[in-house]
Amino acid sequence: MNKLEIRTELTQLSFDELNSEDKKLAQASKEALNLSHAPYSKFKVGCAISLENQIIVLGANQENASYPMCLCAEGSTLAAVATQHPNIKIDKVAIHVPLETPASPCGFCRQSFKEYETRMNKKFDYLLVGNSQVYAFHGIDTLLPLAFSSKDLID
Ligand SMILES: [Zn+2]
Repeated sequence: MNKLEIRTELTQLSFDELNSEDKKLAQASKEALNLSHAPYSKFKVGCAISLENQIIVLGANQENASYPMCLCAEGSTLAAVATQHPNIKIDKVAIHVPLETPASPCGFCRQSFKEYETRMNKKFDYLLVGNSQVYAFHGIDTLLPLAFSSKDLID
């Protein structure tokens, strides 16, 4: 019997410590809060995804009176990327919540990011953005160790 240890590592930064490109993306994710439709939870989430061609795609959570139909900010943004820019790979993802410390994507969205990383055959950079702190990391495996992936099944 072996015990496996899974470690994860994120970098904690203040907004001012971000480079100019990351500040721009983090600010875009904050502005995406204005696209949120969250009359039920009152919890707005904004997402900004930068593509390899420098385009930034925005999205936000979209709630529904029928709660199971709600869309997370990350999922709505990934769908926009896939349908509006189908041949352009993702470079970096910023997710903003209007809290002091960042929030991390739900399990559903972590698995969605895993699917897009697999589809695009690359790991993305992530910025989880709060009002005063940012968590930065590379690859969704950071938040989703032992992720399910069809690619892993094939290989
Ligand atoms: Zn989610």
